[in-house]
Amino acid sequence: MGTKRSGNAAVRNINCNRILRSIWESGQISRARLSADLDLCAATVSSCVEALEKRHYVRMGEIGASSGGRRPVMVEIDDSHLFCAGIEVKKTRVAGAVVSLRGHVACRAESRIAGGDFMAAVEGVMDDLRRRWDADGFPVIGIGVGVHGIVDYEEGLSIYAPAFGSRMVDVRGMLESRYGLPVVVDNDIRSMVLAEKWYGSHRDLDDIIFLGLDEGVGAGLMIGGKVYRGSGFAAGEIGHIRVSENGRRCVCGNIGCLDTVASIDGFLSDAAAAVGAEPGTLTLSRAMELADDGDPGALRAFDGLGLCVGIALASAVNMLDPDAVFIGGAVSEGWRHFGERVKATVRERTFHGSGHMVDIQRTEFGADDGVVGAASLMVDRILSDGYDLLC
Ligand SMILES: [Zn+2]
Repeated sequence: MGTKRSGNAAVRNINCNRILRSIWESGQISRARLSADLDLCAATVSSCVEALEKRHYVRMGEIGASSGGRRPVMVEIDDSHLFCAGIEVKKTRVAGAVVSLRGHVACRAESRIAGGDFMAAVEGVMDDLRRRWDADGFPVIGIGVGVHGIVDYEEGLSIYAPAFGSRMVDVRGMLESRYGLPVVVDNDIRSMVLAEKWYGSHRDLDDIIFLGLDEGVGAGLMIGGKVYRGSGFAAGEIGHIRVSENGRRCVCGNIGCLDTVASIDGFLSDAAAAVGAEPGTLTLSRAMELADDGDPGALRAFDGLGLCVGIALASAVNMLDPDAVFIGGAVSEGWRHFGERVKATVRERTFHGSGHMVDIQRTEFGADDGVVGAASLMVDRILSDGYDLLC
């Protein structure tokens, strides 16, 4: 969506992009500082800031400290006017939210997926959200969609979604024509690494692994500040690293993959056996209650989960040497019962030649990680050089 600008308009748009990104990264910054940092003349900075303010991307904030002359007015991101929709397509349900430019959730909607037709559920959630943003007056400027499986980020195409057996679904085309807004589509877990980059409190980190433990298991990789998608958009399939020689058969055909023990169904199946519950009757919150009460079966189940996650993660950490690992997805709600085991296993199985020990923690977005991640796909597009901010 959007038209390509040429000549002076294109240069002005690129300058606006650089300025917006700089304001984002700084939190608050003066126009003089922007001019010095970006090597742009004062008049260009003022004119771009004025254009961004008129479109509600930025606003004037506090008065900053003087460096000799008049005290400058600081510029900051306007978190109250523009919103993105974030849609997460899981194996059984679609979750959606309207999210501010700074990652705050304004409202949510959800729908179960019937008969594998995930686009019908996406449209149901989007229609619900649209009614609410129209009623509440949220101006939504774009839609980010995270879909499980293999996604062509360039074309906005769900190449293969294993839970539905669907292939080549034109998610972007269908949503752009229905809602008239720009749409960005990527793998669901991969989008969550962008949420850490743009919304998280670790914005200075360039090398990150996001491990999602939910209906499936996967990783989002950020290398050198950029999301790594692989040659066929299939990077990060950590769920298919073998962690057990005698485990269950995985959907991929192999035995003992991480997915079979660390997805929500895989973990609850092991935990039910460990605590003597009927298969299919145990919930994660009940398993956590049992572990809180010191039930040996529940503690053993969480310990086994931590060991398996740690084994797979150690391989990824040895390969990529990231600054940090963030753990998300529904299973991560039990982090307090398996986090230490993950950290100890990674510590034991990784090489510390540089003396640097990777930081491993649960994501700060909790249960909103999927929808906030999806919305951050749109924010990533807005902050990249090509996005037309002046339309
Ligand atoms: Zn597998």
